[in-house]
Amino acid sequence: MTRHDLPRPSPERGHAETSWHRAYLGLGSNLQGPQRQIQRAVDALRQVPGIVIVAVSSLYESAAWDVTSVQPDYINAVVAIDTSLAPESLLDAAMRIEGEHGRVRGPERNAARTIDIDIVLYDDLNIHSARLTLPHPRMHERAFVLRPLAEIAPHAHVPGYGEAATLLRRLPRSAIDTVRPVAQEA
Ligand code: ADP
Ligand code: MG
Repeated sequence: MTRHDLPRPSPERGHAETSWHRAYLGLGSNLQGPQRQIQRAVDALRQVPGIVIVAVSSLYESAAWDVTSVQPDYINAVVAIDTSLAPESLLDAAMRIEGEHGRVRGPERNAARTIDIDIVLYDDLNIHSARLTLPHPRMHERAFVLRPLAEIAPHAHVPGYGEAATLLRRLPRSAIDTVRPVAQEA
């Protein structure tokens, strides 16, 4: 059995000399039409040179997590990509798209947002730099990340923790059930 359920990066991308990496991005939105915001973000990612979309999970809905103010529910999804971008360049691309899609960062932690694009996993990398932590902190205990991730890549390996589907199964049923699949808008 392979570690991942999705095809690996391959030279068929037309860049045999370039090294490609499998990454998983966590997308979240709870402002200004969250389902449309996720779709727009996927479309924008598709346009980035060095990013190839491999799979997009269903959309999932859940109450805002760890917040100090009342907030609309979130829509979350996970996107599998192949990328030739280095991790920090991928973060730059994600943050550029966030900015172009109306993301405003204020002082409030976990504030409502039009779009959040996090790098959940990048190959099997463990990184702790000033700008980037991989795997994404606490993703291994968040049902709103693990549910969509396990849907598209149940065997994705979370360094230090194990496979996505196993981590999801270990969460309390109540935590898993707070993350509900939503019917996609036409
Ligand atoms: P959050 O996603 O935690 O709600 P932000 O999107 O505002 O908050 O990100 C805060 C900071 O987290 C960013 O400036 C970024 O440098 C940092 N960060 C660290 N690791 C990651 C990661 N794996 N993916 C995305 N951002 C990350
Ligand atoms: Mg973020």
